[in-house]
Amino acid sequence: MWHHRSVVFVFAYLQHLGQLFLSKVKSTMEKDVTASQHKHWRTTQERVEKYISDNLFKDVNLRGKLYPKAKEVDRLFHWGLPLGEKTWEKWTFKNITMQDFKPIKAGMAYGPLWSTHWFKVEVNIPEDWVQQEVWLHWVSQGEAMLWSAKGEPLQGFSPGGVHLSPVKGANRTGAMEPDQSRTDYMLSSCWSGSQETQVFYIEMACCGMFGAGADGMISPPDEGSVFQLEAVEVSTRDKLVYKLLTDIDVLHDMTVSLGSNDPRAHQALYTSNHMINSIISGNYSQASQLADTFFTKRNGDLAHTVAMIGNCHIDSAWLWPYSETKRKCARSWSSTVQLLEEYPEMKFACSQAQQFSWVKLHYPELFDKICHLVKAKRFIPVGGTWVEMDGLIPSGESFMRQFLYGQLFFKREFGALCEEFWLPDTFGYSAQFPQICKSFGISRFLTQKMSWSLFNKFPHHNFLWEGLDGSTILAHFPPGDSYELRVRVKEAIRTVNNLQDKGRVSTSAFLYGHGDGGGGPTRNMLERSRRLRDVDGCPRMEHMSPSAFFERLEAEQHNLCRWVGELYLELHNGTYTSQARTKKQNRICEFSLRNTEILLAVVAVKGRMKKEELLSHQDNLHDAWEKVLLNQFHDVIPGTSIGLVYCDADRLYKEALASSEEVQRACCPFLFKDPEKKVGEMVVINTLPWPMRQVMVVKEEGKHEVKQSAGEGQYYVAVEAPGIGWSKLSTSLSPPQVTVSFSNNRYILENQYMKAQVNTFGQVESLILAGDSQDVFRREGTHVGQGNQLVLFDDVPLYWDAWDTMDYHLETGKVLNIKESGCEVNEVEVVQSGPLVVKLRWGLKITEVSSITQEIELSAVSPYLVFRCKVDWLESHKFLKVLFNTALLARTATFDSQFGFVERATHCNTSWDSAKFEVCGHKWADLSEPNLGMAVLNDCKYGWTARGSTLMLSLLRSPKAPDAKCDMGQHTFSYALMPHKGCRDKTRVQRCAYEFNNNLTLLSTSVSHDSEVWFSLVGSGAMIEAVKLAEDKSGDVVVRVYESLGATTSVRLKVPSQPQRVCLCNGLEEPLSDPSLEVGEGDEVFVDLTLSPFKIVSIRITYN
Ligand SMILES: [Zn+2]
Repeated sequence: MWHHRSVVFVFAYLQHLGQLFLSKVKSTMEKDVTASQHKHWRTTQERVEKYISDNLFKDVNLRGKLYPKAKEVDRLFHWGLPLGEKTWEKWTFKNITMQDFKPIKAGMAYGPLWSTHWFKVEVNIPEDWVQQEVWLHWVSQGEAMLWSAKGEPLQGFSPGGVHLSPVKGANRTGAMEPDQSRTDYMLSSCWSGSQETQVFYIEMACCGMFGAGADGMISPPDEGSVFQLEAVEVSTRDKLVYKLLTDIDVLHDMTVSLGSNDPRAHQALYTSNHMINSIISGNYSQASQLADTFFTKRNGDLAHTVAMIGNCHIDSAWLWPYSETKRKCARSWSSTVQLLEEYPEMKFACSQAQQFSWVKLHYPELFDKICHLVKAKRFIPVGGTWVEMDGLIPSGESFMRQFLYGQLFFKREFGALCEEFWLPDTFGYSAQFPQICKSFGISRFLTQKMSWSLFNKFPHHNFLWEGLDGSTILAHFPPGDSYELRVRVKEAIRTVNNLQDKGRVSTSAFLYGHGDGGGGPTRNMLERSRRLRDVDGCPRMEHMSPSAFFERLEAEQHNLCRWVGELYLELHNGTYTSQARTKKQNRICEFSLRNTEILLAVVAVKGRMKKEELLSHQDNLHDAWEKVLLNQFHDVIPGTSIGLVYCDADRLYKEALASSEEVQRACCPFLFKDPEKKVGEMVVINTLPWPMRQVMVVKEEGKHEVKQSAGEGQYYVAVEAPGIGWSKLSTSLSPPQVTVSFSNNRYILENQYMKAQVNTFGQVESLILAGDSQDVFRREGTHVGQGNQLVLFDDVPLYWDAWDTMDYHLETGKVLNIKESGCEVNEVEVVQSGPLVVKLRWGLKITEVSSITQEIELSAVSPYLVFRCKVDWLESHKFLKVLFNTALLARTATFDSQFGFVERATHCNTSWDSAKFEVCGHKWADLSEPNLGMAVLNDCKYGWTARGSTLMLSLLRSPKAPDAKCDMGQHTFSYALMPHKGCRDKTRVQRCAYEFNNNLTLLSTSVSHDSEVWFSLVGSGAMIEAVKLAEDKSGDVVVRVYESLGATTSVRLKVPSQPQRVCLCNGLEEPLSDPSLEVGEGDEVFVDLTLSPFKIVSIRITYN
């Protein structure tokens, strides 16, 4: 219990009615406090409130006495970056100060949105301000940075912004918090009287703390916004008045937060009331003494401790583009550095290597100061990742790279790794995080986002989080449910009252500082924290580093409960689908970079490429990865940023892909035996670690036995290549042919694996495995469901447009490709009819403005039916999905995820099951009975619904905020329907999903033999996710293998040539202390591995 209990407050103050004020009647407790004469709670409390108000009675209250002397600055000049200038980044400070600044007066407005304006300020401090505190005040509607005349960034100025609060119905007030702005800078704590002119530069960005939403925060930016420079002044500040204002503010806060049932609230109220009487009588020192006495009354021994950790959540892009974030970091962090110097007790936690890297590049002086403070363990890097990424959509390997590039940056720049995984604002957390964290030396995790869940309150704030493979880390959710606390008594009380693990832990983290758009801690917060350090009535508040906090928690972790599996956020489920192109580009880049890294590693092993060239390609791939990782930020890849951000994201993806392809091209001549010989042979490269078959389109007729015209002089041929390796194209296959026929108004498509019936509207009415009689869509011959139903839903969320799709949208579905829909349909026609490929084409008008064309394709060698879609999409608040309504009875559905899969209920038995109406899955999802199952594969989608016997894949949304044009225009994507032998056929589903996302590659080269295997894996259930060169540039190769079925397995990894040493390594690619792995020799070089369920293993191979 934190609140006082030992003191019995006795109202012994019965006062004589005639006594007007300042009587000296003593209580048993507060000898120096006089209670208000009239015991009226409300009048006394509001008296106190008005006495420190910034708006009311300022002419006579204490607030009005804060700045006794003030004047406008003497001279003010302006120069704006040329309009049309896209970026501030190429302008140096020196360059700017040489421009033609024109004299101006405060009061002018500047624009357009996102433009940059510089101001030069000259001020002479009056002589009679000597020995006073002197402050500069800058009030503008745009965010600004104060620079010294020498070009040193000093401090950010912020206009404040709309207070962000969770969408909990009416809780969202939209009110401006008075201290969210930062408009003053201390010129001197004791003015020397110097008459020298002070010169400063101020850089103002034409955007607010939260961009420039037209009406309301998450609306698209108002392009017509202008930003006024309201005032530029200097003043003295009365130190004692500031102290008294803060004292009364905290006392008032205690009064209100504790409420009239708590005696301590009355003590706080009477103390502040007494202080006001003292001030009015001119006795300021007595007022000060009264407060000091109050704040010395301590908590009991067992009071809960609130661990104050300063922070400043800066979204790497959101309602502003990346380029603005770079300045936001500098503004917030320069202000923070100042406060750290002023308040030695303060600790500041800061995440995202990318942001540190930006500041290092653009603000080297500031970065130097930060480095010193990092050494002193005051400015504390946390998180370990490149950015605070989305926790669901990136691939497993992307997560590995987030940590790898993040941790290596922190180690290189600051000499130490981060100890905490820090993801306070991300929309759900993969079950593989515990294992991944551990491989990077992290065993602690912090977030607060789970408090946003709409349906169920998460049962813990502290718990052992057990991941997919059984790895466990310690998790903490700050019970204040925010990373934006302001050091208010009610927040501290909530931190204790809301704690789900009462009696189990004695300390809780308390993340204070303005965030989202940056800002960070303020002087007022730190002043309040000094008063609340240990005062009866409020929990004990102690400044603590994240590490010190977790050490305390670790000492109590034997008391904690365990949570197994993913942390599913019951909100923001639309983010698996919004901004479809970004998600598609992410998928493409993840696969492309994987393939290129494999080829580069093979080239390195073969030893034919010069070392410098190899390293330069490695650097290019590293840069490409950084771009992909940046776009995985928790407002970019989820699709929740403004349109401008997606222009940047698109450019970064294009650059990353171009680099990847360029390195691939550079590798090719070094991959084969005779790089010098003239090109002449087509080879097929397979980067998946098993033999892969595919029907490909080739230009020439060649020597292939079975071929089929693909039109325009091109041919389909069936090919096979060993994995990971290549074979000559000329060694093509002659598979049993695929056929199409028409009967009973249905098209029957049949190959060696399956028989499917498709109606004239493109729906799949029957699906049977070859040699089987059970039908995915029929039971006992009766037709119970269909596949490939395109369904349009109404999609109007409660508030967060791009973020949320609500449960009730599922009640509004309208199937489009049925006769009754009234949609204009181009019925199915046969476009290709075998023997290698069968293709049907059909289309429909979704609405007046949107349409879809679809090709349904079955090849002779693939066990799945492919649906290739081209959609013109111009909807508003509509959601397009494809639905597979089966005859299967499956109580759970299975979804592909990072390094494994997750199972989720298909029913709504509990509120927890019910809340999972739209879930995240990667390349496949599956509904299975033990002997028959159906998987749906996709090439760029992430949203799924599994209810009863129905599986739905989410295709396109159309939210209007914060990007009014989100997902408008043309989209191409594919999905596939795969019948299989049921629950035990998972390996095949997983492999097909990889194949569906990763075609064989054709290459014209010169070779002297028929095929070659570079790396391969013998044994079932394991996958080679990456083959890459080690980050230390030693030339070593790192191979990442994971167990994908949830079953212990033994596999043999075959490697291309005899290595010097093979060992297991951690995520950081450091050899583990285990002895080297034994290498099998002979014709094939191999390493045997035993993998436990869902284990991720990194193997480091050293060649000469
Ligand atoms: Zn955020």
